Amino acid sequence: MQISQYRCVACGNCIPVCPMGAIYIDPAVGRAQVNQDECVECFTCFRGMSKEHLFPPMVRAIRRVAKAFRFRFDPEPDICPTDAILPTELQWPRIVRRAFSDPQVPHESTGIHGRGTAEVKTNDVTGRVKEGEAGFVIEFGRPGVGARFRDIQKMTERLAAAGAEFEKNNPVTSLMTDPAKGLIREDILDEKVLSAIVEIKVGLEQVPAILQIVRSVSREIDTVVAVGVSTRCDAGGEDPLARLLEAEGYPAYRGKTNLGLGRATQQAVL
Ligand code: SF4
Ligand code: SF4
Repeated sequence: MQISQYRCVACGNCIPVCPMGAIYIDPAVGRAQVNQDECVECFTCFRGMSKEHLFPPMVRAIRRVAKAFRFRFDPEPDICPTDAILPTELQWPRIVRRAFSDPQVPHESTGIHGRGTAEVKTNDVTGRVKEGEAGFVIEFGRPGVGARFRDIQKMTERLAAAGAEFEKNNPVTSLMTDPAKGLIREDILDEKVLSAIVEIKVGLEQVPAILQIVRSVSREIDTVVAVGVSTRCDAGGEDPLARLLEAEGYPAYRGKTNLGLGRATQQAVL
């Protein structure tokens, strides 16, 4: 994202709108600037602000006069008075930032389809995680924090070495050059996104080892990590995952139970 240095009148209204704190007023030039390294191209500033089309030199002159007389001339707080926030035509690899950070953008250009798949929410019809298996979702970043692919790769390398199978339809997997080693494309490793989700599947017996890897790597990387793990109940409705999680110090909740009312799409779950 860019801010027109001609149009900006340094009112500061866009600063609190940015979830990454990437916008600041540069006192040396008296204009808002975007820290391009921190900006994740979420487009919140562009979409979230109403726009007026006042003449920038006139607004600046009025603001100077007002300041001299010790009162303020400010636009309403949700308005950029001079339509100064300008989206840029994003090129590879920067376009990856938007694909993972702007929920409204389609991802045909990158082949990425949102931040993640339907995960295990549709497991009753997809049969992706079968009895005896555990599906993990490992989420990196949050508004205000973000995550770089270089940090995400530190986790995917360790997961791959432990034998994890990455979900093929997941956007992070689609950016891997070698899923067997958990390696992500070199040219995007420094890109920062609002958040990204890695999805893996392992045998239930590997759950403690995977949780230990997640816990260990999350202490080494410069972002926040959230982990979720699910399994398929057996025919009696028993959930073998709960005791595994409790043994590792994680409280287990039946947060969501799918009733299997959809049409099964895989023979394995019929
Ligand atoms: S809202 Fe517009 S005019 Fe005000 S600081 Fe931001 S870009 Fe500049
Ligand atoms: S695109 Fe998003 S991260 Fe970048 S400056 Fe705008 S609000 Fe901040």
